[in-house]
Amino acid sequence: MRATILALTLAATPAFGFDMPEDEDAAQFVTSNVVSTFYHELGHALIDVLELPVLGKEEDAADALSAVLTHYIWDEESATRITYDTALAYALYASDLEDWDGAFSDTHSLDQQRYYTLVCLFYGADPEARQEVAADLELPAARAEGCAEEFVQADESWSALLDGLEPGPDTYGLTLVNTDEDDPVAQILIEEIDSLNETYGLPQEVTVSVEPCGEANAFYIPDDDHIIMCSEYAEDMARIWVEAE
Ligand SMILES: [Zn+2]
Repeated sequence: MRATILALTLAATPAFGFDMPEDEDAAQFVTSNVVSTFYHELGHALIDVLELPVLGKEEDAADALSAVLTHYIWDEESATRITYDTALAYALYASDLEDWDGAFSDTHSLDQQRYYTLVCLFYGADPEARQEVAADLELPAARAEGCAEEFVQADESWSALLDGLEPGPDTYGLTLVNTDEDDPVAQILIEEIDSLNETYGLPQEVTVSVEPCGEANAFYIPDDDHIIMCSEYAEDMARIWVEAE
């Protein structure tokens, strides 16, 4: 369990590239979304390197891993913060949406659906403790009813795999490559990678980089076993935060 996510935002500002916003809430929002999106991309990586069967949308499976990891890795306050910030990013993107055909034909579920599923899984992981969160994030009662079961299904599916990934002499891990380690997004990922490598071993190395991609996004590239967190993604998170204020 990680102590607190807030400390992650205190990283030094680099001379080039993305600057973490000085505003603490804005920096937290960016940090939370980098973390949850990195866990999502890790879901794609695990599906690929472990050759997992995917019964349904791979994007939903990756979202489920992100929710499960957030619940297990972080303390209650930080996990709640990550969930609020990630849900808010979905809500902001949803409210901005103009290209409905694009959204309907996309491999991801709609941002509105990703919002409710995330809130449902977080609430469902501990319904007694998280009733207020569910109410505050306006999870409808009809959905909330089944969220404990939804979490159990996501948890049992992913945890069954994660539990078998003990690191050992014959396993590999995540490695940061081609990245300025002073970049604030890289700083967040270095902590995540160190922590994940202590807990999980992979059958092959998965590399991770922070670099410009020409769009605000993050990708897993199966041919290269490589996760790219685009620099534009953190910039876009900072932008939507400012625009929402
Ligand atoms: Zn994805």
